[in-house]
Amino acid sequence: GDILAVNDTFVELVGYSAGELIGHNFEKVMDNGARFFFNSMLYPRLRMEKEIQEIYISIRTSKQKVKYVMFNAQIMEPEHAIMCFIVPVAQRMEYMKEIRSINKALEETLQEKTRLHEELIVLNQNLKNYAEKDWLTKLYNRRVFLMKVEKIYEEYRQDGRVFSICILDVDNFKQVNDHYGHHVGDEVLIGLAHEMQEFFDSSCTLARFGGEEFILLLPNQDKYTAYKKADLFRERVKKQKWHGVSITISMGINMVSYPSEISDIIVGADRSLYKAKKNGRDQVVLVDDL
Ligand code: GH3
Ligand code: MG
Ligand code: MG
Repeated sequence: GDILAVNDTFVELVGYSAGELIGHNFEKVMDNGARFFFNSMLYPRLRMEKEIQEIYISIRTSKQKVKYVMFNAQIMEPEHAIMCFIVPVAQRMEYMKEIRSINKALEETLQEKTRLHEELIVLNQNLKNYAEKDWLTKLYNRRVFLMKVEKIYEEYRQDGRVFSICILDVDNFKQVNDHYGHHVGDEVLIGLAHEMQEFFDSSCTLARFGGEEFILLLPNQDKYTAYKKADLFRERVKKQKWHGVSITISMGINMVSYPSEISDIIVGADRSLYKAKKNGRDQVVLVDDL
């Protein structure tokens, strides 16, 4: 238990000079409680395990002041001297405080990162919408529609699953604009798009083809099923009013068939639409009826 050497920090901590410490028993800097604790618990453990770590004890300074310290010790072979490391707890508290504030800053940075990440997801979604959707009706644009048709056309080539395409055009829409104004015209287009979304099931791709013209991809529907569905929709639109305005629509339908290409199918549907217009509007025409 005799002190063999001390460093300046320890001298400063306990308030004795090195000369007053070296050669004296370590108990000189301990109060009774610490002395008992050291002799009955720490020292036997130190002998058994060769080291002890982070034990809190109190030491007594030259001015009989109690200071709390964290105590680490290790038996140095072969001299069998004990190397002690002592850190004042107050200092440790400072470190803890510092670590806590670093942790807090890290947490804040992490939260900021999460927030920015979420913002990025929203921005990406907006960007995707700008690229894929029509700004007015929020239906898909022509580009996305054609991409979806290409995909379903590939499926048709592989397993023969048919699909139909329907082109829809508002009758005499120019008159709606002329009578009620462009703004009401816009609202009618939005209302019609909304009605389409309500009516056709989610497997259908609905797009604005341009102006007051829409195009629908009806997967797994032959032209007769598509015709019935389209005609029901035509009836439904006729009964609707948006901003006091009622409209009628004309539609042309075509179905995929070998060996027609996508463009042929669309052209066929468009020709059917033209026929519907020519026949007096407010009707659905199948490609075969041409
Ligand atoms: P038809 O029955 O032959 O289709 O007659 P129509 O008047 O509907 O056809 P036309 O092609 O002569 O006119 C289409 C009109 O649709 C002209 C254009 O001003 C209007 N239009 C196109 N896009 C929009 C739009 O985004 N908003 C509004 N309010 N009008 C639009
Ligand atoms: Mg029109
Ligand atoms: Mg048109």
